[in-house]
Amino acid sequence: MAQKPFASSADLADKQQTLEVLADGVYALTAEGDPNVGAIEGEDFLVCFEALATPVAAREWLALLRQHTDKPVKFLVLSHYHAVRVLGASAFDAEVIVAHERTRELIAERGKQDWESEYGRMPRLFKEPASIPGLTWPTATFADRFTIDLGGDRGDLVLQYCGRGHTEGDIVAWLPRQRILFAGDLVEAHAALYTGDAFHRDWSTGTLDAVAAFGAETLVGGRGAVASGRDAVDAAIGQTRHFLQVMLREVGAVRQRGGTVKEAFEATHAALVDQYGGWPIFEHCLPFDVSRLWDEMSGIERPRIWTGERDRAVWQELQD
Ligand SMILES: [Zn+2]
Repeated sequence: MAQKPFASSADLADKQQTLEVLADGVYALTAEGDPNVGAIEGEDFLVCFEALATPVAAREWLALLRQHTDKPVKFLVLSHYHAVRVLGASAFDAEVIVAHERTRELIAERGKQDWESEYGRMPRLFKEPASIPGLTWPTATFADRFTIDLGGDRGDLVLQYCGRGHTEGDIVAWLPRQRILFAGDLVEAHAALYTGDAFHRDWSTGTLDAVAAFGAETLVGGRGAVASGRDAVDAAIGQTRHFLQVMLREVGAVRQRGGTVKEAFEATHAALVDQYGGWPIFEHCLPFDVSRLWDEMSGIERPRIWTGERDRAVWQELQD
């Protein structure tokens, strides 16, 4: 059998971007399974949610957004530390870059390696990689909650930590008045989960419970279409939880019988492929996902740092 191309290295076709106006002054850009971004208008400023992988990619998004508003970007919110979400930050000229305090620590600890790893896995997302000036450093961090008064009668934007999940420091952005939730990579809608830096047990239980407790009527996940209406929101959260639960069950069963990580990968792949195999980045993510869950179940508390070299070694061991 031919070898599978490494991660998303052979995925070179551009995706269709769609800007949706979710409510007055609330925008989401989705892209057929590529990372989503958003923006919220304050009375005389903008809050942008996520920064894409490079300043050149971010400027394309800003050009679309500028067809709707020319307000300056006061806050750039980063849901977590992953390179494809943060390295475009310089394009926004934001006054404040907000993230969870753990996210800032993770950038210091492993931002450089993550950049190299993600560039190797998803080169297409790194439009003109030379435009990246360096790592992105949050200038305001918080532990539990950070509230932005949008001014006028626009209400608040609430940034909230829901527990460990996709990473150690994910946050969501919640508009209570419009009941719109930007969930980052804590929820995916019709896209596979990347769990290579995750805490599967926390994420599949308390963290997703906290996300569901907002009672959102519109949810923008990290990838995939906007979930509109309570049924679609529940389905997106439910699918994310189910994916994690199947992983926990399959990897746990293989460990129980004294099997290998390769067997755990094969069992997990077999259990997920019918439902999720056709979704974006499924084949790309699964070796890294199972590797991390194997570690988590072995008592390795914090995710090991991915490097270009370790990515290839795990791929070789599990996916080829
Ligand atoms: Zn991520």
